Parts: sequence; structure tokens; C-alpha cells
Amino acid sequence: MKRQYSNVDYKSIPLFKDVKEEDWNNWKWQMRNAIRDIPSLEKVLPLSDEEHEHLAKTLKKFKMAITPYYAALMSKDDVNCPVRKMAVPILQELHIDESDLSDPLHEDVDSPVPGLTHRYPDRALLLVTHECSMYCRHCTRRRIVGETDEDMARGHLEKAFEYIAKTPEIRDIVISGGDPLILSDSRIDYILTELRKIDHVEIIRIGSRMPVVLPQRITDDLCDIIKKHHPVYVNTHFNHPKEITEEARQACEKLANAGVQMGNQSVLLKGINDCSNIMKAMMHDLLRIRVKPYYIYQCDLSEGISHFRTTISKGIEIIENLRGHTTGMAVPTFVVDAPGGGGKIPVMPDYLISQTEKRVVLRNYEGMITSYTQPSDYQGHKTSDCSFCSDESLVAKDGVAKLLNEGGTIIPQSLRRESRTNGKH
Ligand SMILES: *Cc1c(COP(=O)(O)O)cnc(C)c1O
Ligand code: SF4
Repeated sequence: MKRQYSNVDYKSIPLFKDVKEEDWNNWKWQMRNAIRDIPSLEKVLPLSDEEHEHLAKTLKKFKMAITPYYAALMSKDDVNCPVRKMAVPILQELHIDESDLSDPLHEDVDSPVPGLTHRYPDRALLLVTHECSMYCRHCTRRRIVGETDEDMARGHLEKAFEYIAKTPEIRDIVISGGDPLILSDSRIDYILTELRKIDHVEIIRIGSRMPVVLPQRITDDLCDIIKKHHPVYVNTHFNHPKEITEEARQACEKLANAGVQMGNQSVLLKGINDCSNIMKAMMHDLLRIRVKPYYIYQCDLSEGISHFRTTISKGIEIIENLRGHTTGMAVPTFVVDAPGGGGKIPVMPDYLISQTEKRVVLRNYEGMITSYTQPSDYQGHKTSDCSFCSDESLVAKDGVAKLLNEGGTIIPQSLRRESRTNGKH
């Protein structure tokens, strides 16, 4: 039997019981009525004196915003409710762990113009706003998200467009924030239109949590705008099966029907989804609502989220429990976004057991160990005869791939033996 989608029953919550359905389904009403202070939160969740005091302290440093829709998904009685943990601040956010870093992903360091991070050769991250409809307690960009209340000034955006236009290697733009879909339809149309004027921008991706925290934002008008600028991909951010509701399903379906390929990027979070079976149920539900699981992120080293971190081993365990056991399309890539701006590093169980030139020994998910006899006369691909290999824009210019292609060495910057070489190599 199919799993039931979880149900948002806002009429049962005293604060919302008189809300008209047309207001509830209006994203602007949802934004205007987001829970931003303790008195409003208390109308939804009973708070103990201690919780009240902790919350007051935490709100001095970090913002809270919870859309009525997402608040209606929180359990009143269960402090361990995953939705509640992602939405309601707790005192541990003020704890700075010794492993914490303020900009672990070097998004500010790798930024040629404000709001644009160009770390990978052929794609760039464009932050178009610092605001969100709801502030996730585990947000990786909490150093900037919610800090300034303005959308990126038009001047900043224009500088970013200029940079992209004069950088022909960029063929993929990831629009993120904050949440880009918090912007007005006309502003979104402007950004997509400007990007589409740049000939070498092949694909555009929008990263938004709206399908999860405010599915009412996915209106027919918004879909009509996105549709004009294809190929546009939308990656969203579900972390728990409880977030997959009938409303979320409709939002994702609207986007899918507008020709948008939907992906999901979840974050591995202690006490929320650090369980193979929760993850498996979520991946199944995502495919049912036409969203392809793309990444599971290891929780990174941003300040104030150490209480959400798991070991990396937990992610490997989750992939071990998915791969082979369920639909391959339900298996995302588990990645660690390397501290220091190293970018995403995929991590998975080892399936390769051993090898000679003749044979490779592999194991499958069941533990069956098998051997693959490699062709003895494989000559390799003839680069000189290949038109793709002579296309400079396709050839890797960095990294281990470059070593494989051209040979050479990559030398780490800080080696103790550097000091012993008299500057000679
Ligand atoms: C994640 C990320 C991207 C996109 O990475 P993909 O692996 O292509 O999805 C691009 N730029 C930055 C800075 C990123 O962090
Ligand atoms: S929607 Fe994204 S950017 Fe906004 S608070 Fe949540 S994780 Fe951070």
C-alpha cells in the first residue's frame, strides 16, 4: 500500500482556525503572517518557562520566521518533531563549537563580485536575496541569511550579470540565496531574462525551499514565467517525509507540468533524518511527487549548527541501505562540502574490492563478490581522432583529471619539506 502523504490540518490550530481558505492559499498572506516572535509562537506551541527564556536569548542573535503552513505541520506535543526542530530556535544555536567556521565554504572568498561565487570552472552560484520565507535552524548560510533585509541591490546584480557575460566558461547558473522565490514574479522574470540574454548560459538552476515551507508560492503565474526561460531546473530541499504533503505534491506537480526537472538536496541532520529508513521513505515519496533525489549533504561547519551534525559514517550507512535495495533513481549522491572552499566531495561505500590488469573484483549490495575480466586488447580512446577532444571548452584544465590526461604533479601549498629545499625543486 502506498504511504499516505502527511496532512496539514490548520483548522485544528486555534490561531489559524478562522483563516479563510483563499488567504491560507495565498503566499503573500502566508508571508505577512509568518511567526516571527515569541507571543505568536506561543499561540501555536505551548512553551515552558525555560523554553521561553532560551528562545528569547537565541532570538537576540538569530532571526525566526515560520510560515503558518509550515507551523501547522509542527507537532504541539512532541519536542522531537522533525519539522519543529527545523523551525524553532533552541539555545544550542548560541554555542560556538571549536570546529565551527564562519564561512566554511569560502563563498565570500571565491566571490569575484558581490553575490556571485565562481568556484567550479563552468558554473557559478548567484545569490539574489538574503531573505527566506522561513529561516531553517540548520541553514548553512546563516551568517548572511536574514541578516540584511534587502534584496540584492539592482546594481550588484548588474555587476554579476556583467561578470557572467564576460566569462564564457560559465554555462550553468545556480540561482540561490536566501530563497530566490521570495522575490516578486516580475523580479524573477527580470533575472531570468537578463541571464537568458547571455548566449553561453546554457542552463539555469533555481534553488528554493518554497515547495517545502510555502508551496502556495508555486503559482500558475510563476510557472508561466519560468516556462519562458527553459531549460530551467529547480532544486528544492526536503529533509523529512513529514514535509511531503498534498500541498507540496501539488507545488512540485505544477513545476513538473511546466517542464521543470525537479531535484532534491537534503541535509543530513541529527535527530531529524539520520536514519536509513526515514531517508528511504523520503526518497520514495519524492519520486512519487516527481522530484529526483540529487544530493544528501553532510551538515557543514557553519557556526551555531553543531547540534545538528552527524558523523560522515552515517551518510555512508544511508547510501549502503539505499543502493541496490531500492530504485536507483531514489539514490542521491552523498557529498561533503569541503571546509575551506574545496567544494563537494562525494563519499560512498567501497564497492571495488581489488584489481589486477586482467580482473576487477567487485561486491554488490548483497555482499556477492564477483569478478569482471577486463579486455586485454583495449587500446583506449584515440584523442587525436575525436572532435570533442579538440574542443578546448570540454577538456578538464585542473585536478586529478588533468594529471590523468597530461601527467604532472599537484603539490600542496604548505609542506614542511618546502622549507628544506632552498627554494629549489
Ligand atoms: C554546489 C555548488 C555549485 C553546483 O554544484 P553541482 O555539483 O554542479 O550541483 C556551484 N557553485 C557552488 C559555489 C556550489 O557550492
Ligand atoms: S531556505 Fe535555504 S537559505 Fe533559507 S534559511 Fe532555509 S536553508 Fe537557509
